[in-house]
Amino acid sequence: MGMARDPLKQRLRGLLHELMLIPGLSGHEGRVRRRLAKALEGLGLSWRTDRLGNLIATIAGDAAGPSVMVFTHMDQLGLVVRKIEADGLIRVERLGGVPERALASQEVLICVGEGKDVPAVIANKSHHATGQDEKYRVLPYAEITIDAGFASAAEARAAGVDIGAPIVYAPRALDLAGERVAGTSVDDRAGCAVLIEVARALADGPRRPTTHIVFSVQEEFNLRGAVTAAQALKPDVAIQLDLILATDTPDMTARGEVRLGGGPAMSLYSFHGRGTLNGTIPHPAMVALFSEAARAEGIALQRSAHVGALTDSSYVQLVGQGVAAIDVGFPCRYTHSSLEVCDIDDLAGLTRLVVAAIRKIDGAFSLNRDDDER
Ligand SMILES: [Zn+2]
Repeated sequence: MGMARDPLKQRLRGLLHELMLIPGLSGHEGRVRRRLAKALEGLGLSWRTDRLGNLIATIAGDAAGPSVMVFTHMDQLGLVVRKIEADGLIRVERLGGVPERALASQEVLICVGEGKDVPAVIANKSHHATGQDEKYRVLPYAEITIDAGFASAAEARAAGVDIGAPIVYAPRALDLAGERVAGTSVDDRAGCAVLIEVARALADGPRRPTTHIVFSVQEEFNLRGAVTAAQALKPDVAIQLDLILATDTPDMTARGEVRLGGGPAMSLYSFHGRGTLNGTIPHPAMVALFSEAARAEGIALQRSAHVGALTDSSYVQLVGQGVAAIDVGFPCRYTHSSLEVCDIDDLAGLTRLVVAAIRKIDGAFSLNRDDDER
């Protein structure tokens, strides 16, 4: 039987494609949430939401052991309409870590309502009029304009575009060679697809701790959407699924050893060096748990230590009396660009790894810091 028939990989590829084509800027995750809620219902799981919009499903299990929250974010970065000029061109604010270098000439989607969304392009000065001094200059987002074809502000408003409207990269999903997939917001729709498969395995399978499946909001905005869920659920353990920077392209090789297609990865250290004094140093029991689960399952587990990015786990770990947290993920290239690249093999490996790790958590699983390595 060929690899292409692996049902897990087929489901991951299918759901990833579908999710990448649904726009969901931070704070506007409704369409993504509805699709994921439908997927949970398909697994026979009931779900609920909190006031921020986190989507939560609880799979009850052995109450003797620690409880687990496994989470991934539904939202994506993008832009927000700031001003509509009299000539119909649109000015924007950015939301999240938008790479300005990769904005010019992008196709975008102004989200004004399902079936009514407005396609547009980010203006790029006509090449024939680009002077030598401008050729290699990146336009800051404050200077860019977005052209949806409107001839006036009134036309834009008649189409539903107003100040505050969310804008995302035009949703795309492309199968590349082999198991590689490119698309919009692989970060973190790939994590969402993995988490649905984790939920499927845990809902069907044998022994497990009580596990809360959480699809969180506003990660790209303020990294704290999942905190609300953690405050309500009071988990002992938090497992965060998101991208891990692939470092196997020529521009990244000095940064680490994470290969796309080399298997799932865990983060041993993250820190955001740009003002946000936070990051995640995983709980040693979680590092040991994932290392042992990978060994037992025969899954290659890659390691990452990286300054410059962080996830909601940094804030979730501080909830209550502390939550034993770890970031695990899939290698991803070209992060936050309009087309990010991941590998379906890595997503399948991550799914199996997370399920195996959670199943190993029982009443004997210690989070006691007195047991830390000496
Ligand atoms: Zn992410």
